Amino acid sequence: MSISSNLLAIKQTLPKGVTLVAVSKTKPISDLMQAYEAGQRIFGENKILEMTDKWEAMPKDIEWHMIGHVQTNKVKFMAPYVKLVHGVDSLKLLEEINKQAAKNNRVIDCLLQMYIANEETKFGLDQSELMQIINYIHTHPDQLQHIRIVGLMGMATFTKDETQIKNEFLNLKSIFDSLKQQPTTHNLQPSILSMGMSGDYQLAIQCGSTMVRIGSSIFSV
Ligand SMILES: *Cc1c(COP(=O)(O)O)cnc(C)c1O
Repeated sequence: MSISSNLLAIKQTLPKGVTLVAVSKTKPISDLMQAYEAGQRIFGENKILEMTDKWEAMPKDIEWHMIGHVQTNKVKFMAPYVKLVHGVDSLKLLEEINKQAAKNNRVIDCLLQMYIANEETKFGLDQSELMQIINYIHTHPDQLQHIRIVGLMGMATFTKDETQIKNEFLNLKSIFDSLKQQPTTHNLQPSILSMGMSGDYQLAIQCGSTMVRIGSSIFSV
């Protein structure tokens, strides 16, 4: 199997309305170019400096998504070009993204990362921390003019127990649905639910995912 045949096979299984992020972290540009030539235009990386090197070297019609944990002091490197930041897990980080986006005259789309797994190692907000951020947005309409919260992201526990994974995805979906009940503002427009990776994306789609982040099933050939 090749990268392009892997990619096309996965794309065929995705329903309309589900966006594929090709997760290309640690892969060389030559691999990314194979996916690009097969039509892929959305790539996900988990290190800002690696993503920036790839952005500089590759065609400019690519959308770059930051899917990893974001270090505040590196936001400035991606602010000129990043399309979507999946891993926002604090108001402080949102404020830094806002500040750097303003310097670049941009509005940067962000997903709030929710903690849904049963693992100490994963990052993310719990529901009360999510509500604190949403309340801040609602009570400070003239702040955070340069970010837009467009949805939620989450990662299930790394386990073979499909029932557990499904329950975690359904939990995230229900948080997403209640977020969509909130009054929208210019910077709160939730429409994207980013959940599902190589091992669990079909389950994630059944549970309401609109964006899947797939790496090894595409790039491990
Ligand atoms: C690596 C990674 C993925 C892709 O994982 P695969 O199992 O290789 O598909 C998805 N999301 C995040 C946040 C990742 O770090």
